[in-house]
Amino acid sequence: MSIDIKAVTKDYNGFSALKAVDIHIQNGELLALLGPSGCGKTTLLRIISGLLEPSSGEIWFDGVDVTKWETQKRQTAMVFQNYALFPHMSVEENVGYGLKIKRMPKADIQKRIDEVLEMVELSGMNDRSIQSLSGGQKQRAALARALITEPKILLFDEPLSNLDEKLRVAMRQEIRRIQQRIGITSIYVTHDQREAMAIADKIAVMNHGEILQYDRPETVYHTP
Ligand code: ADP
Ligand code: ADP
Repeated sequence: MSIDIKAVTKDYNGFSALKAVDIHIQNGELLALLGPSGCGKTTLLRIISGLLEPSSGEIWFDGVDVTKWETQKRQTAMVFQNYALFPHMSVEENVGYGLKIKRMPKADIQKRIDEVLEMVELSGMNDRSIQSLSGGQKQRAALARALITEPKILLFDEPLSNLDEKLRVAMRQEIRRIQQRIGITSIYVTHDQREAMAIADKIAVMNHGEILQYDRPETVYHTP
């Protein structure tokens, strides 16, 4: 799925959080949105997912204007730094949640749960409680939960910032491997230039609600 962000702005009570942002993301690409805290990264991600309405501008998926579409119809999935998992439920209950509420037959849900757990290398961990998992395993479970509904777009909001340096490096390679294996168009929000350089096909450097640079990692030098 390609994404076109066309002259998107967002004002919060007169404060301009996004100022005419334009970005084109090709099908299957991973774009890193790089910039300091408060520059508007999360705001842009929420507008793409449909959780937030832009003040002006349009969002297009595969040449279709989805600006007015509700979030469910957009088929995007978010992965957060705090995992957003239910701590008292098992891995399987967390991962299957998105299908259960869609009333899919039990056997189909089970098959799909096992598939995505295999994809994130958590096979056999179905009955473990979320609380008993390591940070890296929680992030894998969160990714599995995002993947289970077969979204067309993955949106990562600083997914690794709760992990230590060594695990971050391992997990970003893991995310990249899975993203390329299924060829899913992705946007990855980070304030860490090295992380953006390591994971992305393209980097959009943001500051104060504007895109300062938009290019391949090897040609992006400056960060604000
Ligand atoms: P980032 O994700 O890059 O840290 P955000 O998109 O969260 O940035 O925020 C961009 C700016 O908009 C910040 O200055 C933030 O304080 C402001 N902001 C975000 N959400 C709101 C809101 N609901 N109301 C008012 N200001 C907001
Ligand atoms: P992050 O920096 O990780 O994006 P924040 O802690 O800035 O997250 O924001 C958390 C929540 O608070 C978001 O829903 C955001 O929209 C809201 N928010 C951020 N800044 C403001 C603000 N100045 N006024 C009102 N809500 C805000």
